[in-house]
Amino acid sequence: MKIAERMSLVSPSATLKLTSKAKEMKAKGLPVISFGAGEPDFDTPEVVKEEAIRCLKAGFTKYTPTSGIPELREAVCKKFSEDQGLAYKPENVVISCGAKHSLYNLIQVLCDPGDEVLIPTPYWVSYPEMVYLAGGKPVMIPTMQSEGFRLTAERLKAAITPKSKILILNSPSNPTGGILEEKDLKAIAEVVLKTNLILISDEIYENYLYKNLKHVSIASLAEELKKRTFIVNGMSKSYSMTGLRIGYLAGDAEVVKKIGILQDHSTSNPTSISQKMAVAALALPKTYRSQVLAIFDKRRKQMLDLLLRAKGFKAFEPEGAFYVFCDIQGTGMGSEALCEELLEKENVAVIPGKSFGSDRHIRFSFASSEKDIQEGVERIIEWARKK
Ligand SMILES: *Cc1c(COP(=O)(O)O)cnc(C)c1O
Repeated sequence: MKIAERMSLVSPSATLKLTSKAKEMKAKGLPVISFGAGEPDFDTPEVVKEEAIRCLKAGFTKYTPTSGIPELREAVCKKFSEDQGLAYKPENVVISCGAKHSLYNLIQVLCDPGDEVLIPTPYWVSYPEMVYLAGGKPVMIPTMQSEGFRLTAERLKAAITPKSKILILNSPSNPTGGILEEKDLKAIAEVVLKTNLILISDEIYENYLYKNLKHVSIASLAEELKKRTFIVNGMSKSYSMTGLRIGYLAGDAEVVKKIGILQDHSTSNPTSISQKMAVAALALPKTYRSQVLAIFDKRRKQMLDLLLRAKGFKAFEPEGAFYVFCDIQGTGMGSEALCEELLEKENVAVIPGKSFGSDRHIRFSFASSEKDIQEGVERIIEWARKK
């Protein structure tokens, strides 16, 4: 069958592919340990699940307003105001079926064919594909492990052309675990304001910053920046609600309205019950998030300590998110061959960096138990020793 041309530019999500292979092997009874997961391993909070039951019983199972129920849009505004001191009105907020959907919609609404979208590399797998699907051109900007994977003003300037329209920031970053601190953001902001770029700030890992670092959104630096920035966030990573598919974005009201229209003709509203669950989750005491963070920080340290003993692996110490991005040049293998070998020989699933734009790295998720981290990395240490 003749398939539309635009699909030839996009590839299947490598993350999902490898994790599904690992799941298959596990189902066959193999002792698979997976560091592939891009989701917290905790259960969804109990009060959030109870809200779903309550909604079902009350018959809250019909269409809602396309852009989200008013109480959720208001809860999102309250969150931005309390956590980041950012003032948004409900008309600046649209609820979508996951942050991925928020990003997809945003790029569809902003990007014309030929527009260039600047993407710091390593990047989250879906950014370039979303740009291709909108007919735009992704332009990769390198960042270096030795520089903490921070986007510098110099590299940003070097990538800008008259066609540059959007810059995507993702701090804390998936896959690197790198963050952009206020001083980094200020340097980037200076370039952005001079060149009229639109900013998309993917802040889905805002809850996961270590070493007492605080999350800063570029939108909070100046009113001029806030006007040009779209903050994307969602319930998946902060509240273990990946399957419930609620994401949101905040920014310019005109663009937000257009996204509502796009949803009118594509998905309609995000799932009614999930929206109510999101309201319940956003009302949880802040201690919920700090408790989760403490557990992840312990795992982060454990994984880093263990990886020090793996010959040929040079881990980048993450300051945020829940991944360890690891230089594997010392193994003499490419990322895909290495991940295949680790899965087949050691039953350990790790994601090849190639899908994030760096074949010199692999990505470990530490969203798994301490027991699994211990055993899984020990298998890799042993594999590297024998090699
Ligand atoms: C997980 C993730 C998302 C999307 O999350 P949703 O489940 O769609 O809300 C977006 N950006 C990054 C960087 C992610 O890791």
